[in-house]
Amino acid sequence: MSQPDETRLNDDIVDAISSLGNQTRLEILFTLVKKERECLEQWATMSFTELYDAVGLESTSQFSYHLDQLVGQFMVETSDGYRLTYGGDRIVRTILSGSYESTHSFDDIDVSGVCVFCEGSPLVATMDTERFVVRCRSCEEILLNDLLPRSQTRHRSTEATVDSVGTRIWSTYTLVRGGICPECYGPVDTAVDTHGPEPEADGDQPFYALAHTCQECLLAIHMPIEVTAAFHPAAVGFFWDHGISLLDCPLWEFFEFVVTDTVTTDVASVDPLEATVTIAFDDETLRLRIDDTLTVTPVSTSDISTNN
Ligand SMILES: [Zn+2]
Ligand SMILES: [Zn+2]
Repeated sequence: MSQPDETRLNDDIVDAISSLGNQTRLEILFTLVKKERECLEQWATMSFTELYDAVGLESTSQFSYHLDQLVGQFMVETSDGYRLTYGGDRIVRTILSGSYESTHSFDDIDVSGVCVFCEGSPLVATMDTERFVVRCRSCEEILLNDLLPRSQTRHRSTEATVDSVGTRIWSTYTLVRGGICPECYGPVDTAVDTHGPEPEADGDQPFYALAHTCQECLLAIHMPIEVTAAFHPAAVGFFWDHGISLLDCPLWEFFEFVVTDTVTTDVASVDPLEATVTIAFDDETLRLRIDDTLTVTPVSTSDISTNN
């Protein structure tokens, strides 16, 4: 795994971030995003005069000075005028969405699913000091936690927020399984994480998770190893054939399949990884093998009633 480059945090970065701490400069960046919305166009371009008129500063030389502070990192000048860079676009959307503001809290709400620790229910979704948490009401263990931006809660009811977290987790995972960081699109390293809770009885398999870490922005995401298998198209189809739309079943509801042994995992070796995930419904099973390259291969579908 490559290490982050510590030297990346240098004076140039501090200068670039400092250059944003000015109302006129932020207004210039905002103006370009507003223009995009007006003309329903991505990467809108505006001339010096158009930007100057929109921002409404008295002196052109002052305006020109502020513009210069942004060009390069946050804006580029083209033959058609000025437009945002990727960095400028990110900064404006971060501010508009209130990512740097604190997130609204909401009242606890019961959600479907079964606790992987005590097999109890109900589970409850809640906000706990800026984190979205799914907790078991019986044993109080936390099954899942995630950061929520303000924009995810601000204009949603509690139920809709919880649903949106379920959808977001799978959309995040879709990128991760392609080796792409959902935050910055950098490459992701994956390792087996064996630091989960100890099995309660001898013979029980411990929980295995995969730890996905971005080489660029250091984002870390943990997913139960079963999810890796469940997202193979053969498994998605198998769930569908048994009345379950996997993408509409949030991660905390997916845990129930593990608790009820609908989905079981046998890890023959951690290094190199050799695991088999079995999905079993009443009359049928699907077996999928996960190898050290994290490639998932369906090995068999069997009809239990005819095999017995
Ligand atoms: Zn519990
Ligand atoms: Zn990243």
